[in-house]
Amino acid sequence: MSRDLVAGEKVLLTDSKKRRHLITLVEGGAFHSHAGILSHDDLIGHDEGVSARTTLGQRFVVLRPTLSDFVLEMPRGAQVIYPKDLGPILMLADVFPGAKVLESGIGSGALTTTLLRAVGPTGHVTGYEIREDFAKRAQLNVEAFLGPDQPLSVEVRDIYQGIDAIAIDRIVLDLPEPWQVVPHAEKALRPGGILVSYLPTIGQVGRLRESLDNSAFGMAESLEILQRTWHVEGQSVRPDHRMVAHTGFLTHARLLVPPES
Ligand code: SAH
Repeated sequence: MSRDLVAGEKVLLTDSKKRRHLITLVEGGAFHSHAGILSHDDLIGHDEGVSARTTLGQRFVVLRPTLSDFVLEMPRGAQVIYPKDLGPILMLADVFPGAKVLESGIGSGALTTTLLRAVGPTGHVTGYEIREDFAKRAQLNVEAFLGPDQPLSVEVRDIYQGIDAIAIDRIVLDLPEPWQVVPHAEKALRPGGILVSYLPTIGQVGRLRESLDNSAFGMAESLEILQRTWHVEGQSVRPDHRMVAHTGFLTHARLLVPPES
């Protein structure tokens, strides 16, 4: 079913050099750039996927942003987790529709938005974030992409001090000292529940693994995701010269019931 573009929604404009601009359509609005002016009224009422011409004759492709586009273009407070790692996090944490997920910290809300989409309307995401400004920014970003009334509760608090919720299905962490969360996660997760942690340095991973080894968690594994894009143009088909060599390491583990001795 095709749905025409309407005022109030976000669209991504991409020029011939792949430069991207995320804009919100407004009746009577105009997008100004070095390439000329594009009237929003020329886009409203049309299908996404159209090419629109500016006053200087430059073309922009007009599309609704995907979640991945949105994460790359959205306003940031804290550094976000990129799509390269967001997808694998959903698999490693085995996030399913209806899941009860605890996330900390929520930063700019890139992962929060991704988790909410995966748990769906019957699931729930609770976010613990220590900085009030980031908590607000994240909620604005979530609403900008998913709309209001999401199954999300954000609490401004320090997760190192403890977790109130119980019988949680999944815990996903993006903060500097996740080993401080392990003892709380043991009480908050249900048996078989999964903990996933995103960490920038390997020293942190070692410290987390040590604390997981001394806990009721098992099946721990750490990995990194490398993504290499390719240049494909006529006869020239080869890896791109540049790639993002490092973002973070992912560690996942499951909460087990200790064997009776
Ligand atoms: N994953 C987020 C980015 C998180 S950045 C995204 O994709 O957008 C890390 C966040 O953890 C920061 O916002 C920081 O304020 C928060 N944080 C750090 N220590 C914390 C703690 N002890 N409790 C709760 N939040 C914490």
